[in-house]
Amino acid sequence: MNKDLYVSSPLLPELDDFIPYLRTIWQSKRLTNAGPFHQAFEQALADYLGVEHLSLFNNGTTALMASLQALAIDGEVITTPYTFAATAHALVWNRLTPVFVDIDPQTFNLDPAAIEAAITPRTRAILPVHCYGVPCDVDAIGEIARRYGLRVIYDAAHAFAVRDGQGSVLRHGDMSILSLHATKVFNTFEGGAIISPTLETKRLVDQLRNFGFVDETTVVTCGINGKMNEISAAVGLLQLTQIDAALHKRATLDALYRKRLACVPGITLCREAANHGYFPILIEDAYPLSRDQLYDAFRQQQIFTRRYFYPLVTDMAAYRQHQQAGVAALPVANHVAQRVICLPLHPDLSLNDVERVLAVICTASSAALRSRATPFSVSDLKRLQP
Ligand SMILES: *Cc1c(COP(=O)(O)O)cnc(C)c1O
Repeated sequence: MNKDLYVSSPLLPELDDFIPYLRTIWQSKRLTNAGPFHQAFEQALADYLGVEHLSLFNNGTTALMASLQALAIDGEVITTPYTFAATAHALVWNRLTPVFVDIDPQTFNLDPAAIEAAITPRTRAILPVHCYGVPCDVDAIGEIARRYGLRVIYDAAHAFAVRDGQGSVLRHGDMSILSLHATKVFNTFEGGAIISPTLETKRLVDQLRNFGFVDETTVVTCGINGKMNEISAAVGLLQLTQIDAALHKRATLDALYRKRLACVPGITLCREAANHGYFPILIEDAYPLSRDQLYDAFRQQQIFTRRYFYPLVTDMAAYRQHQQAGVAALPVANHVAQRVICLPLHPDLSLNDVERVLAVICTASSAALRSRATPFSVSDLKRLQP
């Protein structure tokens, strides 16, 4: 019996290494509120990522919501429909109007031309996502923001440890947001962070994270509870000792997928991300199975892929009302959402596990080549599997 394979699997420290940290927390009775593990991890994470001003959060979604408060955004915010629901939710929870525009077919990130075309007198900010950890066109977005006087907040939930020629990709825009959720490349069980451009901005973010308190009796702003607790911070400190090995393992698995899938007809590979957080592929018409047939074929082999990001945020029931009349169609985002599937990619996978995934894809493909005359079905694939 084959073991279940999941699209992601959380990186975890050795339990024995973690017990002493728990003992320290139990003895000190400091559970949260910027305790010693929080302070140590906040600094260590900033150092690791190569950024100066980082504020830990209890999750990425609170961090996104707090960033919009910190910059006092109102009105319309241009964002992508090709993302996790939280990107848009953070806008709606701030009573902002999301304006969804199309993505670039190569990077699946916001298309700068589409951003510019959607700007109105009410536009205040752009909320792009570095989708799958592939950096946005930060130069073009920065140039548009300068020209129109807009703020830019990057949802960098997928971009842990991603760097470009000059350093961390998290330095771009007015702020960047990380998620340290269990499903992400680096996790603290639940967690998040805001990267601010200046110490002054970080101070404001830190106040917003803690109800707006600046001392025991002074509340200067309507903050929220966004604090990371000591257990998560201690987990984070331990994760930093093994993240490089995990990233290296991801790169090895990514390379195997990439090599073996390069010549499979009807499979389109996507751009390689520096942190190898995801392995999305597009199932094109030339492939013998539809995307959803392949998804089912995987499930029959205990391989649980995910269709990130399907449906588009704009197709979620919660967003139908936000899609104003006259908003441009989203042809690229629709094309990609209908065809994408993310293959299992995480450090617990073996090379053999990857071969199991590849076998499902390649068996269908070669069987179809053999029997071009008859349409190929999922039951044919089942028959062909050992
Ligand atoms: C995971 C994710 C979030 C939300 O982060 P949480 O830590 O789960 O709250 C936001 N945006 C994107 C693009 C994500 O993938």
